[in-house]
Amino acid sequence: MDATKEKEALSMKTPNSKRTRGEDDESPAAKTKQAVDHNTNVANHYNQLQEVGLAARSNSRIFFMRNFNNWVKSVLIGETLDKVRAGGHRHVSVLDLGCGKGGDLLKWRKGGIGHLVCADIAGVSVEQCQSRYEDMRRKSHASEKIFSAQFITADCTKEVLSEKFDRPNQTFDICSCQFVYHYSFESEAKADMMLRNACESLKPGGFFIGTTPDAYELVKRLEASDSLSFGNDIFKVSFQSRGDYPLFGCQYHFSLEQVVNVPEFLVYFPLLERMALHYGMRLVSKQRFSQFFEEKVKHSHHRSLMMKMSSLETFPCEDGGRPESVGEDEYCHAREHCNRMASGMRLGTLSRSEWEAASIYLLFIFQKMS
Ligand code: SAM
Repeated sequence: MDATKEKEALSMKTPNSKRTRGEDDESPAAKTKQAVDHNTNVANHYNQLQEVGLAARSNSRIFFMRNFNNWVKSVLIGETLDKVRAGGHRHVSVLDLGCGKGGDLLKWRKGGIGHLVCADIAGVSVEQCQSRYEDMRRKSHASEKIFSAQFITADCTKEVLSEKFDRPNQTFDICSCQFVYHYSFESEAKADMMLRNACESLKPGGFFIGTTPDAYELVKRLEASDSLSFGNDIFKVSFQSRGDYPLFGCQYHFSLEQVVNVPEFLVYFPLLERMALHYGMRLVSKQRFSQFFEEKVKHSHHRSLMMKMSSLETFPCEDGGRPESVGEDEYCHAREHCNRMASGMRLGTLSRSEWEAASIYLLFIFQKMS
C-alpha cells in the first residue's frame, strides 16, 4: 500500500469522519505563516509560564491532578528503566524530548541514569531546566554520582537533534516525550520529524515512551457536547468544527487553570503506530491513564509512591469539610464510596473536575526492534 492509500485507509477509521481534509486546502504561504505562528506561540506560552512556589501550587485547583500526572510519569519511567536494566544496560542514556523546565529531572536522578539530553523549543524553559540540574548537582552529596547532561533549545518538529548532540554517535536507551507529542501533529512533516528525533538515536531494544491526549476520548466528548467545546471549571477544550477530523492539523484549543493555554492537535494513534514502524518501532503498550491507574494501584509499592507524591486527595479531608470554593458535587463519587465503607474510613480521590481532565490522557511505550 503506498503512503497516500495508507493515509486514506486510516482516515476511514477516524471516528465520525465525513471526509479527510488534505493539507492542500490552504495555500503554501498561508500554511507557512500559520506554522510559524503556531510554533512561536507554543514557545512563547511556555517561556512565559512562571514557576510558582509550593504554597501557591498546593492552593491550586489542580494540585492533586498535577501530582497524579507526575505519579503516572514516575511509574512509567521507573518501569521502563527496570526493563532497560533487565536487558543488561548499566550506563543508561536518556533523551527528554520536550523537557520543559525539567519537571522530570528528579525522576532521572532517582532512576540512577548516566546521561541525559534535554531538548525543548522554549529557550527560557531549557535555561531553567539547566539551572535546576546544576543546582541539583551542586547540592548533591559527594558520594552520589549525578548523571551528565546536555541542554538543547530546538524545534524538534523541524530540526534534526542528532546534529546537535555533544557526543558523536550519541545513542539512547530511552526517549521520553511527556505531554508533548500532540504539538507535532500539525502536519505530517512535523509529526515525522518529532518521531525521527525520538527514535533514530535509540539503541536496538530501546524505548520511546510518552503521554498525550487520547484523540478518541476528545472526539467522543466533543460529539456528546451541545457546542464546539467541553470541559469544566478547570479545563476547556474547544474545536473549530465537528464531524471532520483530518489526520494531521486537526486543531483544538486546550486551556487548563493558568498552566496551559495553547492550540494542540489530535494524535490519531493508529497513524502514529503506523508511522513508528518506519523507524523500526513496535507498540508495546498503550493505556488510558484510568486503565493504568486501575492496574498499578493494586500494587502496594505504587500505592506508597502515590501517597508520597500526594497524588490523591484525602476524603473526607482532615477537618471534615471542603475548601469553600469547591462544591460538594465535586466529591459525590467519593461520598458514595465512603458511605459503603466502615464509618470513619478515609479514601484517596481526585475531584470530579480534575478526574475529567486527567482521564483525557493516555500513555504509550514503543520499543525499537533489533
Ligand atoms: N515534558 C515536560 C513535562 O512533562 O513536565 C513538559 C511538558 S509541557 C506540557 C509541553 C512542552 O513541550 C513544553 O515545554 C513545550 O515548549 C514543548 N514543545 C512544544 N512544541 C515543541 C517543539 N516543536 N519542539 C520541542 N518542544 C516542544
